Amino acid sequence: MSDLKQLTAPVPPGGTIGILGGGQLGRMLALAAARLGLRTHIYSDEEDSPAFQVSAQRTCASFRDASALERFAAACSVITCEFENVPAETGALLSPLKPVRPNPRALATTQERFEEKSFVSRLGLETAAFLPVNSPADARSAFQQLGASRAVLKTRRMGYDGKGQVLVGSATEAAQACERFEGIPLLLESFVDFEYEASVVAARGTNGDFAAYDPPENTHRHHILHRSTVPSRLRNGQIAEAKRMAREIAEALDYVGVLGVELFVCKDGQLLVNEIAPRVHNSGHWTIDACLVSQFEQHIRAVAGWPLGSTERHSNAVMENLIGEDACDWQALAGRGGALHLYGKSEIRPGRKMGHITWLKPEAGVR
Ligand code: AMP
Repeated sequence: MSDLKQLTAPVPPGGTIGILGGGQLGRMLALAAARLGLRTHIYSDEEDSPAFQVSAQRTCASFRDASALERFAAACSVITCEFENVPAETGALLSPLKPVRPNPRALATTQERFEEKSFVSRLGLETAAFLPVNSPADARSAFQQLGASRAVLKTRRMGYDGKGQVLVGSATEAAQACERFEGIPLLLESFVDFEYEASVVAARGTNGDFAAYDPPENTHRHHILHRSTVPSRLRNGQIAEAKRMAREIAEALDYVGVLGVELFVCKDGQLLVNEIAPRVHNSGHWTIDACLVSQFEQHIRAVAGWPLGSTERHSNAVMENLIGEDACDWQALAGRGGALHLYGKSEIRPGRKMGHITWLKPEAGVR
């Protein structure tokens, strides 16, 4: 059923938003909800979830535990998620009980890279050329068909931050890399020699209203987002185009909530969609400090059926992730004049997102 059709009254202050997932995104959603007088109930399968520390209610159980999910649904007015890989059966079990926003179809489409890229192409939006790969022979012929000198072999599911992807430079390398994935469904896409990466973080409300933040320019280290900068190098026409793309995607998915659309900005100025994240996005963390209404509050407003807030940016901003050992430096970081956000994770691990820091109105030489 269309989410617009199962529209219910807005969740009033004092109501409870259920959030599937207990990571830093859930934590920042819970903090934003609290500002609006809303409670959150975090559902996570990890006891040590950072979002548990800041939410009124919690459930620690498997995403496949039907009775725990039923109790969770009974305790919430509306349910959302902070990670895209919510199992399909979880959404199927919850959606007859309470509104699930974004809807399970949007989650299913964006969980599977081949489905996602096919959906984006059907909308007439551009992506890197891609082909499905189910065997080393497929990989070999896909590499030849793409006709590029390099290509990226990606798992169709559970891929993020560069996990589950390999750069290959020949049909033989593509076939060998495919063998290492041992039968997992894959896709091969042309390597894009982009100028830089950008993203649009945008929201759609239960009434169909749409609002997008200024797209940041993003740099990665070891495939993990390192820095988001606003304003980006995008020209006004490209900014309008990027927002239009996000809007088309959100409308076609009948989406409610915040979504992130990752883009490659090509040397000729063309924008290609790399990935859709059906949730608040790391490249939108700067909005906490540089906008009147952050992406987290915006998501809570959207899923609670409230009017969307202003996406206006009152400051230029640079956000940097604190990955792994970066966070050991918290005392020095706290003294550097930026807005420091630490996620309350007890264990530092390489590649783990421990926090971020945002500088407003940065000028050359500030850092
Ligand atoms: P993903 O997990 O698909 O978001 O990819 C993570 C990062 O890998 C992207 O942000 C890019 O920096 C890089 N990447 C992914 N796909 C491609 C591609 N087809 N061409 C060039 N770089 C890519």
